[in-house]
Amino acid sequence: MPTFDPSSFLESLRRTLSAGAVLTGGDIPEHHHADWSGAGAVAPLAVARPNGTEEVAAVLRLCNAHGVPVVPHGGLTGLSGAAQPVARGIVLSLARLDRIEQIDPAASTVTVQAGVILQRLQEALAGHHLQFGVDLAPRGTCQIGGLLACNAGGLNVIQHGAARAQVIGLECVLPGGDVLPLRALQKNCTGYDLAQWFIGSEGTLGVITRAVLKAVPLPTARKTACLALSGVDGALDLLARLRQRLPQQIAAFEIMWDDFLGAAKRWVPVPQPFDPIPPLTALIDVTGNDEAAIGQALEDALGEGIESGWIDDAVIATSLAQAAQLWQLRDCMAELWTHMKPVNFDLSVPVPRIGEFRAAVQAALARRWPDHRAYYFGHIGDGNLHIIVDAAVLPAGTTAYDVEAVVFAELPPFAGSISAEHGVGTLKKPFLGISRGAAEIDAMRAVKRALDPNGIMNPGKIFD
Ligand SMILES: Cc1cc2nc3c(=O)[nH]c(=O)nc-3n(C[C@H](O)[C@H](O)[C@H](O)COP(=O)(O)OP(=O)(O)OC[C@H]3O[C@@H](n4cnc5c(N)ncnc54)[C@H](O)[C@@H]3O)c2cc1C
Repeated sequence: MPTFDPSSFLESLRRTLSAGAVLTGGDIPEHHHADWSGAGAVAPLAVARPNGTEEVAAVLRLCNAHGVPVVPHGGLTGLSGAAQPVARGIVLSLARLDRIEQIDPAASTVTVQAGVILQRLQEALAGHHLQFGVDLAPRGTCQIGGLLACNAGGLNVIQHGAARAQVIGLECVLPGGDVLPLRALQKNCTGYDLAQWFIGSEGTLGVITRAVLKAVPLPTARKTACLALSGVDGALDLLARLRQRLPQQIAAFEIMWDDFLGAAKRWVPVPQPFDPIPPLTALIDVTGNDEAAIGQALEDALGEGIESGWIDDAVIATSLAQAAQLWQLRDCMAELWTHMKPVNFDLSVPVPRIGEFRAAVQAALARRWPDHRAYYFGHIGDGNLHIIVDAAVLPAGTTAYDVEAVVFAELPPFAGSISAEHGVGTLKKPFLGISRGAAEIDAMRAVKRALDPNGIMNPGKIFD
């Protein structure tokens, strides 16, 4: 490999792309210094903004030849440091790959470039009475490539599965510049499914440039209910009843413990449906095309839950405005963060054990810091438990790592995951061994070495 000369490298990079596509020095916008976690903020050598697959391939070929690290940047909404730049490397922004190429209602598919913003995709599909199965709070900023690269889940996993389940084919550029072409076949039994390797790879294997995704019918009817429950067992009982009455029609089933809604009541002007706040509140969306039928099925399931003593109180929204108001209970989470010094967790455990796991974490935190404050909420259908621990009320000098070590230590008996949504990045890298065994990590390293022998793609993320 030739000795690295930054100025001649930057000159070659400029020649590779169209005018104005390479930013350096003070022209690099500060938001390219870190993802939304802010972890390890640093200015990269340059930001390259290619406008198509061929230009992405040319950039990677050049960087590979010079051993220059490349960090792909989507919407930067990740919270794990996965898009943290490298000072001696470049950031590859996908922002200009923003074309929705084809919506095919007959095949129920959509072909997009990786830089398309999720909300734009949802709006375009809605015009064809379709939707994309993954929806997330940062929908106005996150990109399709970014959400595929971290296998995002979001609110509708219970109905449609996570990002992985939405992919029919991917076009990816390998670190050496070779392009794995887009195969839009629903069925293809010809060896390894290479596209799947890139989903959840956090930009460490190559760059996703285009995708053929499933588009699912946009339901015409939606019912939202908010329930007061005494505990997780009631939520699990109701989930089972709803699954029987409305198979594939439960779009969301969120649970929030009283600590979370107590904080919301203190800090955010969101109307609370129940007074006093119950031990557990559930927020449910069911969807379909027959409003009366889904409304009846929901009422019947809730009626059974009330009779059997699992549900203490229930509100079914009678208008879209009331439904939106109920959803503010969950969506205020982003505002809660601004009132504390949050250490965030997006863990997962087997669905039936979510309540037991929460109790174990609560006890562990209380043993270490009796006066700690933690807030719990989750998606019950997929065993995903979110925890926010407020480091502002912990003894001075307590680090996020100290808090993570206490919480993650509770996972092994539950065979759970340190990240259900945000990925490993740099922040959870020290704890990867809790979720993955040595053979799994060795296999991941072998894939990385095979596809990226010079180690240029997003170095230092997931594992060293
Ligand atoms: C308020 C909030 C709520 C959230 N809620 C959820 C939720 O409910 N469920 C959930 O699963 N997640 C959730 N997330 C996390 C979310 O999944 C990610 O933030 C999002 O999917 C990342 O997309 P992005 O375009 O911002 O990617 P970025 O943050 O830019 O990048 C994420 C990773 O992907 C890599 N990358 C980006 N683009 C490409 C590409 N084209 N090719 C290869 N690698 C690439 C980056 O290098 C980085 O490693 C939430 C985040 C926030 C801030």
